[in-house]
Amino acid sequence: MALIVQKYGGTSVGTVERIQNVARRVKQCHDAGDQVVVVVSAMSGETNRLIGLASEITDRPNLRELDVLVTTGEQVTIALLAMALQQMGCDARSYTGGQVRILTDNAHGKARINDIDDARVRADLTAGRVVVVAGFQGVDEQGNITTLGRGGSDTTAVAMAAALKADECQIFTDVDGVYTTDPRVDPQARKLDRITFEEMLEMASLGSKVLQIRAVEFAGKYNAPLRVLSSFEDEGEGTLITFEEEGVEAAKISGIAFNRDEAKLTIRGVPDEPGVAYNILGPIGEANIEVDMIVQNISNDGTTDFTFTVNRSDYAKAKDVLQRTADELGAREVIGDDQIVKISLVGVGMRSHAGIASQMFRTLSDEGINIQMISTSEIKISVVVDEKYLELGVRALHEAFSLEKE
Ligand code: ADP
Ligand code: ASP
Ligand code: MG
Repeated sequence: MALIVQKYGGTSVGTVERIQNVARRVKQCHDAGDQVVVVVSAMSGETNRLIGLASEITDRPNLRELDVLVTTGEQVTIALLAMALQQMGCDARSYTGGQVRILTDNAHGKARINDIDDARVRADLTAGRVVVVAGFQGVDEQGNITTLGRGGSDTTAVAMAAALKADECQIFTDVDGVYTTDPRVDPQARKLDRITFEEMLEMASLGSKVLQIRAVEFAGKYNAPLRVLSSFEDEGEGTLITFEEEGVEAAKISGIAFNRDEAKLTIRGVPDEPGVAYNILGPIGEANIEVDMIVQNISNDGTTDFTFTVNRSDYAKAKDVLQRTADELGAREVIGDDQIVKISLVGVGMRSHAGIASQMFRTLSDEGINIQMISTSEIKISVVVDEKYLELGVRALHEAFSLEKE
């Protein structure tokens, strides 16, 4: 008998029929003798709809109340799934994050899980019940409802799997695994049977939303076996996230990630003296804005240009902060662009292969795509380009590195 945690995303529970389909799958697993904990998201579009309602009242909703609001989406699907299971003769019980006691810090909208009380869930499993848990939510020490960030149901599932020491955490979604790149952007994308944890972490952090980054981090920390699968197909092994390096030589590149939520800002003609970076980025950090890539030019006239990227949703706020800094420092001007994207190549094989960056740059140049910024780490290379080149760039790189082939 195995203990399995299954997670079904928004599209997979998007209608009553789909919830019944999920119930059938869960029952199958349960009938085969396994203990099953199911984590579900809200019906697709529901979280956005709820956020939209809040924005009709205010463009700066109180974050505690926003969490109370958006967590209702998952409360609907846990109840419906438990009913569908009961209707099929499968004993099931639903729990909100607070009822399980998924304890988080109090950072509303991006809370981190500190602890999970598994007593109630274990008691139900022992009694032969399927346990249905609301994804994306928890409670802080005071009992306030919190949420784990968009896509956070993945993290709930992995955290439950870690707390229960489950045999496997299965993430069921609308694609049948992790691909070399988003199959919606490049039809040539190929499904990977396995991907190393390290690569998955990079792919997720560079924008591949198939798994929430925190879920991958959590799986790594607790060594929780993790698999991505289709909720619509019965066949298939999906993609296994592996923790040990394979003996075989790793592929040069495993995948291409991209992020559309990017914007860049440049402050020009800043007097170049010690503390420039701190003076520019300090106020940005104080405004709670996360900075991603940073480039500082060499000065030739005693001044320097400084460029950095932020999340597109922070663009306007960051520009205001930067303008104030520019006035204080006597900089020449502030310019910005929120029509950019970041495209990244990821692969552990990069460590042992030279020339990948130059092949990437040549491919983009052959397509007439101008690279605006570059950053690299041991197993990734990222470039910033105009957003109109996203599809072209991803497809050209996918072909240049022959990712469609095994
Ligand atoms: P869910 O609602 O089930 O959590 P998501 O929309 O969050 O589903 O994640 C699944 C989507 O991730 C897919 O539909 C696909 O478009 C996208 N995606 C992005 N990058 C990849 C990738 N490398 N492999 C597979 N899917 C990807
Ligand atoms: N419903 C939440 C969201 O849309 C959490 C999730 O789907 O994982 O972000
Ligand atoms: Mg998701």
